[in-house]
Amino acid sequence: MDFSTAPETAELLARFREMMQNEVLPLEKDVAAAGFRASLPTLQTVRRKVHEAGLWLPQISKEYGGLGLSLVEHGMVSEVLGQSTLGHYCFNCQAPDAGNMEILIEHGTDEQKKQWLEPLLAGEIRSCFSMTEPDRPGSNPTWMDTTATKDGDDYVINGRKWFTSSAAGARFAIVMAVTNPEADRHSQASQIIVPLDTPGFRHVRNVSIMGHAGDDYDSHAEVVYEDCRVPQANLLGPEGAGFLIAQQRLGPGRIHHCMRWIGICERSFDLMCRRAAERELAPDKPLGTRQIVQAWIAESRAEINAARLMVLQAAWKIDHEGLYEAREEISCIKFFVADILLRVIDRAIQVHGALGITDDTPLATFLRHERGARIYDGPDEVHKMVVAKRILRKYGIGAGS
Ligand SMILES: Cc1cc2nc3c(=O)[nH]c(=O)nc-3n(C[C@H](O)[C@H](O)[C@H](O)COP(=O)(O)OP(=O)(O)OC[C@H]3O[C@@H](n4cnc5c(N)ncnc54)[C@H](O)[C@@H]3O)c2cc1C
Repeated sequence: MDFSTAPETAELLARFREMMQNEVLPLEKDVAAAGFRASLPTLQTVRRKVHEAGLWLPQISKEYGGLGLSLVEHGMVSEVLGQSTLGHYCFNCQAPDAGNMEILIEHGTDEQKKQWLEPLLAGEIRSCFSMTEPDRPGSNPTWMDTTATKDGDDYVINGRKWFTSSAAGARFAIVMAVTNPEADRHSQASQIIVPLDTPGFRHVRNVSIMGHAGDDYDSHAEVVYEDCRVPQANLLGPEGAGFLIAQQRLGPGRIHHCMRWIGICERSFDLMCRRAAERELAPDKPLGTRQIVQAWIAESRAEINAARLMVLQAAWKIDHEGLYEAREEISCIKFFVADILLRVIDRAIQVHGALGITDDTPLATFLRHERGARIYDGPDEVHKMVVAKRILRKYGIGAGS
């Protein structure tokens, strides 16, 4: 693996950094105070500037109007955007839309691409991904209650989902529902496009997370599908392939998330160092003169560096050898980087004292947003189990042990 950054990539990253510095970071406080929906006109202005600057859709191939970056390059971009919770949204590479764009590109019919992908790529609409259910373990997505039953030319969908992120304000959901209950458990569910103005779709609430229900893009919804009828033409990919497609969607998605987390780590680290240098415990005795704070700074530096290299190596392996070959690396970065992320945020908060848990710095928002990092896209424990089982197989312990 070549660790050098090509001059054109370095130049591109500088342009992303400049846009973040000049246009995105200055908005953070106002958006946090006003809420996401009320801030949409302002965010739209920034999105237009991003478009004009040729920085729109960094994760998408040129054929579909994106920058055509490799996963390694997009990983580097994702770190730059990750320093603010608004970053990915402003460049139209935010979850869950980025994953949904990928699915539509890979599996959408021409008609589905025209109706849903094109406006998504243009940033005219948003979408959500509706898989997890309150009454079934999200960590085992082969077991779910939501069904899609054929009736004439339609599917009739029934079920309850939650943590359908960003459903508020979205135009459509990609819903995972059981279409083939008699098939083996990996082939029972399908992915189906459901426009959110379909009768029978109900947005129950935005789930409050650590006291914050959020709104619009910045929310996680509980939703219900009650006799929700959509044409069978809304099926995405083959029937029964829902689980397989979801797995494909998560591979590159984990690189995006992990590099975004490293962006958060770097921002938190910078805030921690500034505070350590500026906050005096006594005249001429800044916090940074204390050994324990120095240790936190050194440990954080080493951990962030290690995390970045691990993620870029996983991205490089996906680019060169494919998703399947990189399964172990993908699981390793998912739990490893999530742990470092939370540790670095926590140290930064500690160095800030009471200020650290206020909303006067972005640290509390980072903590609230990202405690879920150890849970979504596969909890730590599942990824550790996947890695250990693969390793132990080489030592003669079978998959079923
Ligand atoms: C911020 C956030 C955003 C999300 N966005 C979306 C979204 O847009 N769409 C969507 O469909 N879902 C979304 N989710 C849901 C997410 O995918 C699930 O929370 C996740 O899959 C875990 O499922 P669960 O919450 O039901 O936990 P459970 O499956 O009930 O697991 C609970 C805990 O049990 C432990 N555990 C689980 N399996 C094992 C095992 N095999 N061995 C040992 N321990 C285990 C883990 O500690 C785990 O945290 C989101 C979640 C969060 C936190």
